Amino acid sequence: MKIGIDLGGSHISVGAIDENGKILTQEDIQILEEDKRNIKDIIENYILTSVKKIIEFHKVESIGIAIPGTVNERKIIKAVNLGLENYDIVGRLSKEINLPIKIKNDAKCAAIAESTYGAIKEYENSLFLTLGTGIGGAVVFNHKLLDPKKVPGFEFGHMIITKNGRLCNCGKRGCFERYGSMKVFKQEVINELNLDEKISGEELLKKVEKEQQDPAVENIIDEFTENLSIGISNLINIFEPEAIGIGGSFTYYADILLPKIKSKILDGNLLFNKREDIIINAATLGNNAGMIGTTLV
Ligand SMILES: [Zn+2]
Repeated sequence: MKIGIDLGGSHISVGAIDENGKILTQEDIQILEEDKRNIKDIIENYILTSVKKIIEFHKVESIGIAIPGTVNERKIIKAVNLGLENYDIVGRLSKEINLPIKIKNDAKCAAIAESTYGAIKEYENSLFLTLGTGIGGAVVFNHKLLDPKKVPGFEFGHMIITKNGRLCNCGKRGCFERYGSMKVFKQEVINELNLDEKISGEELLKKVEKEQQDPAVENIIDEFTENLSIGISNLINIFEPEAIGIGGSFTYYADILLPKIKSKILDGNLLFNKREDIIINAATLGNNAGMIGTTLV
């Protein structure tokens, strides 16, 4: 039994996970914008409380944490969507927990989980994207992660798709994630329909499902899927994967967005090597892929 933790841009999930990737218990909290002022305290307190609860009832081998950013073995070097830099999270938690703690980029965790149990398990060579607050990425080659040791790389979200474009949290302009993350999509829908900023994920999804024929919403969907098809096509041209998996909160919107993304990629004169079809699957482990993947890396 291992403990898997997913530190998201807007939530923390902590789960007890068995050797077959099955989640036995799980707890989540939302991270609000105002929490980001003392984000380290929030993260440490929540993780420590949840881990101690699990340890009381289960024999735990180790702890893995999926991080939305760049990490080395101990530290979060940079997680731009949480405003964290050079943060020795392993050192801080190790003061209170006497178990091995490993940290890893969240998209890589999700990719290896989906490649082992989920949406891309049938394919030797695949790409995985997490679309949530930002965009994360990973490449699976011969069923293994491509994993440069020094810095994790594969920052798909920070490839520039627009010259002098929107300012990104990373400091550059025109990054893919400023046009293709779910945060951008949701914010545009909230603005267009004059919704409360604090609307729950579930309610927002219902609104989009109901209003998707409304010309203004249709326009947002069209523009958003076009941006995604451009970014994903760039990646296909570089890696020529057999299949692509997409996780993060995208999975809830996959029925609405995925057919449009596929047809734009195939019909949009974006691919260097033309294809008859393209396999893009929504993550089947849902938002839990990162948490499960921490036990596999
Ligand atoms: Zn960026």
